[in-house]
Amino acid sequence: MQNQNRTCEHCGKDFSITLEDLTLYKKVGIELPVICFFCRVKLHLSFWMFGKFRKGKSALSGDSLITVLPENSRYPIYKLSEWHSDKWDAMDYGQDYDENRPFFDQLKELQEKVPHPHQGGIKNTGCDWCDDVWNCKNSYLSRSMVECEDLYYSYRNIKVKNSIDVVVCFESERCFDSVNCYHSYRTFYSKNSRDCVDSYFLQDCRNCQNCFMCWNLRGKSYCIKNAQYTKEEYKKRLKEFKLGSYQSIQKYKKYFEEISKKEVIHKENFNLKIYNSNGDYLLDCKDCNNCNTISESEDCCNCVRNGWLKSSIDVSGSMHLELSGNCSCCQPNGYALKYCNWSTSRYSEYLDICIDCENCFGCVGLKKKKYCILNKQYEKGGYEKLREKIIFDMKKRNEYGKFLPYAMSAGPFNFSNAFLYFPETKKEDILKLGGYWEDVGENNIEGIQTKDLPDDIEDVSQDIITKALICPKTGWRFNIAQNELNFYKQNNIPLPRLHFDVRIKENMKYTTVLQSYPHKCFYCQKGISAYYPPDWGYQKIACEECYKQNIN
Ligand SMILES: [Zn+2]
Ligand SMILES: [Zn+2]
Repeated sequence: MQNQNRTCEHCGKDFSITLEDLTLYKKVGIELPVICFFCRVKLHLSFWMFGKFRKGKSALSGDSLITVLPENSRYPIYKLSEWHSDKWDAMDYGQDYDENRPFFDQLKELQEKVPHPHQGGIKNTGCDWCDDVWNCKNSYLSRSMVECEDLYYSYRNIKVKNSIDVVVCFESERCFDSVNCYHSYRTFYSKNSRDCVDSYFLQDCRNCQNCFMCWNLRGKSYCIKNAQYTKEEYKKRLKEFKLGSYQSIQKYKKYFEEISKKEVIHKENFNLKIYNSNGDYLLDCKDCNNCNTISESEDCCNCVRNGWLKSSIDVSGSMHLELSGNCSCCQPNGYALKYCNWSTSRYSEYLDICIDCENCFGCVGLKKKKYCILNKQYEKGGYEKLREKIIFDMKKRNEYGKFLPYAMSAGPFNFSNAFLYFPETKKEDILKLGGYWEDVGENNIEGIQTKDLPDDIEDVSQDIITKALICPKTGWRFNIAQNELNFYKQNNIPLPRLHFDVRIKENMKYTTVLQSYPHKCFYCQKGISAYYPPDWGYQKIACEECYKQNIN
């Protein structure tokens, strides 16, 4: 066996299938890919909406609901609790297989008849205005969160409380506008820091308290720009910084970016406890190759945003999956799944939102079924014969082995998770592939232009919560909630000027780089590959060993 070189059917670029890939493709038993790694992730994540929250009605009960699924959704939307109930049966939509038509067309037809749940997640209170939310309380306009409370405008957090505008944070409280921070309390405008308290504009700091605009510090207090001050001096200086003013925060943000470019020592990657693995944001991984944002996994290739995977390849956004390939958003307890989406099942292919099924092929919305094809029940023997016939036909039409097509994706590409990872994607390219796009025009709605807001939070009056604000970047309207205003006043934070989804996306860009670039270690000049695009302008990137010697 040797590396195989191919040309991507989507983007036209050359890509290679490595030996590790080939071994795993064989083990999992899926066809070799015809599109490159990036196009695979892009397609997978287009099945996961990052949509605008909107009000709607359940197609079953007429009850009102709040969803990120598009207004003109291709399928009926049921309330999550109704969807999980026995008030309907997905088997009612069963279809016969028609050998004269492409299988994907028939599966899409079925997909458009079967109801989908309005929200992802379970066991929440007061989280109606959230999506992909698990065991959370009283949160608002936030997505992808586990065991969080009082969270506003945030994305991808675990055990975070009472915070606003936080992205990829863990076990933290009272934080604002921060990315990739752990165990932090009252840290603001910070990145990649751990165990810090009462601090502002930190980059790669650990165990620091009362620090302002610092980088690569360990166990310090009362520092400004990495210089030591006395407690009294520090407090005096902090007052002079006018942190309640939007203008001065903008000035500091610019300065913070300059420091990131010229002063901060950036670690080669954010991997922790890994063995024989490569990629970025790997935690507790063994034998994982070309993976990104994956934890507690083993023997995986090309997997992005997953946890607890074993022997799987080309899997995105999934958890607790084994021996599976070319799947998106499957969780939990999947085994031997191929080309599946949002499903938790075993020994099955081409499933969409199926739960606890076994030996099913091309089904949508089924629960606890066996030997079904296009939501129709067969005897074991009949199932196997028809399955073989369909695979034979699919191979003739060049369908088999490909993931579900863009035409079956969740909604407009530019409102999906894929757009967070691939923001440069062009509308015409997605339409050409059969996908969807929503043109975002100026809405011309009435409201206050945010440039007219008071500069300092001190001068903001209570009635701001009754006003509609207009984002200068998107023209979208947003509001300031009462609890949010309290938070800003208590913590001396100026009112935001941009729509919350614009703010999230700006912070997300630091954690969504899937492409590595060649760099030289700042210390030893050794060639390294790191996930920092050249246009970020980082001048000091350190290899693992040098970082350990000089910073750790
Ligand atoms: Zn490609
Ligand atoms: Zn080095």
